Amino acid sequence: MTPNFNAEWQEKLQTRFLNYVKIFSTSDPESESTPSTVRQWDIVKYIFEELKTLGLEDVSLDENGYIYAYVPSNLENDDEPTIGFISHYDTSPDFSGENVNPQIWKNYNGEDLVLNKVTNFTLSPNKFPILKEYLGETLITTDGTTLLGADDKAGLAEIVTAAEFLLAHPEIKRSRIGIGFTPDEEIGRGAHKFDVKKFGAEWAYTMDGSEVGELEYENFNAAQAIVKIHGLSVHPGYALGKMVNASLLAAEFIQTLPTNETPATTKGFDGFYHLTDLKSDVSEAKIQYIIRDHDAEKFENRKKLITEKVKSFNEKYGEKTAEIEIKEQYRNMKQQFDGKMYIVDIAEQAMIDAEIKPKIKAIRGGTDGAQLSYMGLPCPNIFAGGLNFHGPYEFVSVESMVKATKVILNIAQAKKKQK
Ligand SMILES: [Zn+2]
Repeated sequence: MTPNFNAEWQEKLQTRFLNYVKIFSTSDPESESTPSTVRQWDIVKYIFEELKTLGLEDVSLDENGYIYAYVPSNLENDDEPTIGFISHYDTSPDFSGENVNPQIWKNYNGEDLVLNKVTNFTLSPNKFPILKEYLGETLITTDGTTLLGADDKAGLAEIVTAAEFLLAHPEIKRSRIGIGFTPDEEIGRGAHKFDVKKFGAEWAYTMDGSEVGELEYENFNAAQAIVKIHGLSVHPGYALGKMVNASLLAAEFIQTLPTNETPATTKGFDGFYHLTDLKSDVSEAKIQYIIRDHDAEKFENRKKLITEKVKSFNEKYGEKTAEIEIKEQYRNMKQQFDGKMYIVDIAEQAMIDAEIKPKIKAIRGGTDGAQLSYMGLPCPNIFAGGLNFHGPYEFVSVESMVKATKVILNIAQAKKKQK
């Protein structure tokens, strides 16, 4: 049964979220350190102290800014596995996260929200029709000058409030719950230094999805391909029969790949080749692609195809005209759920029990959960409630955050041991 997460607790959740978003914690892809920005320590220290004050068990903080903590089991004959909830405290470097000034809109009436009276910055259902689904709810938005950071401070607030709720309600029988908070997810490094062994959970859920009901356990297989084409630069006046213009060859090479298999022409489970960068002059061209496919076999075929195109290019223009390097990036986590679909089923049931319609879909991207899954911690992704991530239109409804918190509470109580 879904616990009675009443108005008092909803208030705690909202206040906690507002406190978190006001702490500047943008990550930086240019930095090599972990966390990538010194400012992330501000929120790390804040949450570390908060978790200790709330009375969580074995609260620890490592030198890379990873926080681990536990809600102990209160089962009498405990043979249930420890499971975890994970979220990230950095915000995206795509837009300013400094001086976030959240605006609260109670009982949303479906009209335009003027977020900033000076700039007239407006969040409008004309531009974002999804707003109509939030009639009567309490929305939290930006003031139009920053992002909000619901990605993923909504996840943080939900997990911490669920932990506080469980500690305050010993009558709710639950298994041991691990909590893991990471830096630098937005720059693709959230999972890198996560200590799966120390965390000690059999599986976990990232609370880092968007709309209510989202449940994701499939993502792309991903690789990067770098094709280099070597030309021969000669003075154009004396170039007859001698010059090999790498830029022209690059233009030709690009056309050899299927032109209808790009991010702009595919959806759902269709994979693609995405030309991400092209630098060329007469003497050398460097063409960068990312290759994506949910299906492992099709993914291998994509890598084979681009390699063969390079080979036939060399047959046409001479040995070593073109070379290719393929770097593996991440794998579809679905493969890690073979025989363990109960991990997904438990989350789905937790949603149904909270009267939420599960929306199970494949991610056209990767998540930290995908990396963690390959590090030995199977980790589907659950909604945290925010929308329009990484920009000034970002918002979250308090009701959505409440629903996410209820999902956590229901998972905590679920029977997890498989026979
Ligand atoms: Zn996120």
